[in-house]
Amino acid sequence: MRLVPFFLPFAGCPGRCVFCDQRAQTGQGAAAPDAALPELESRLAGARGPFGLGFFGGTFTGVPVPWQDRFLETAARFRRAGDLVHLRVSTRPDRVDMETLSRLRRHGVDMVELGVQTFDSGVLERCGRGYEGEVAMRACAMVREAGLELGIQLLPGLPGHDAALWREDVERALSLQPDAVRIYPCVVMAGTGLADMHAAGEYAPWSLEDAVSECGHALLRFWERGVHVIRLGLAGEPDMLARLVAGPWHPAFGNMVRSLALRLFLEQRLLSAGGRLARISVPDRLSGEFWGHGRANAPALAGLGIVKDRVTFWPEPEFEAELEE
Ligand code: SF4
Repeated sequence: MRLVPFFLPFAGCPGRCVFCDQRAQTGQGAAAPDAALPELESRLAGARGPFGLGFFGGTFTGVPVPWQDRFLETAARFRRAGDLVHLRVSTRPDRVDMETLSRLRRHGVDMVELGVQTFDSGVLERCGRGYEGEVAMRACAMVREAGLELGIQLLPGLPGHDAALWREDVERALSLQPDAVRIYPCVVMAGTGLADMHAAGEYAPWSLEDAVSECGHALLRFWERGVHVIRLGLAGEPDMLARLVAGPWHPAFGNMVRSLALRLFLEQRLLSAGGRLARISVPDRLSGEFWGHGRANAPALAGLGIVKDRVTFWPEPEFEAELEE
């Protein structure tokens, strides 16, 4: 399904989180609902074929309720017309309760994506989020209790966030059985509180190497549990790139992470099978990731017996492999 994003930058946000620059990430200024509504109408009128609509970039449930309702009623009208088949909103964990979620559901919302970022209370405090990790856990559970699909957005590498806390976040997210996860390693954008902390020497982002490694291991955990990771890293919007100060951003970040997760998966399988490969058939859809970005996977795969003339890409969805005698 094609997802049409509709950005409402900073709409409904109680403040500016230290890491967040929605203007750069969405290429748009702060949203005024009365200006956004006609724009939504025209975007939906121009969309063709089955598509989903997502309200992103702010705190949807922090927007005054009459405006939320107007946005959702507009979406509902296009849903009745048939082409709009899925509706999601993104919001903060401390801006949902059962009554709000029930109202969203009545208005046809299918999924709520929560900008969890981390479940760790210490990191949340250092980022000025204003609530504890338990609130985020409870918010995720409420989304599911309300009969809505759950999306969790995670932001590894925030101030005070290390690899151990990130791995705990991944396990907590898994325990909440999300339908979708987005992972955005923390980067420093000009004009944010984080940029000030970075300039003052109070914050250092994760290296690209660490971010790829940690996200690769996390991705394998999500794959093992059948959780869709629908985004890895920020999109390379021109405004974002112009304001990027530091941090683990790379245009091929998603490819690098998926490649690593794929290699880890193969290593695990071969270790448990106890041998080296004589030949392997790999699903076509993984051809872009199999050897890794810049063939980064090739040396490790060679150690498993996986070299070029033993590999075939095929249209089947599964792997098929034979071990050496
Ligand atoms: S992270 Fe979310 S809540 Fe914080 S300023 Fe950005 S959009 Fe608003």
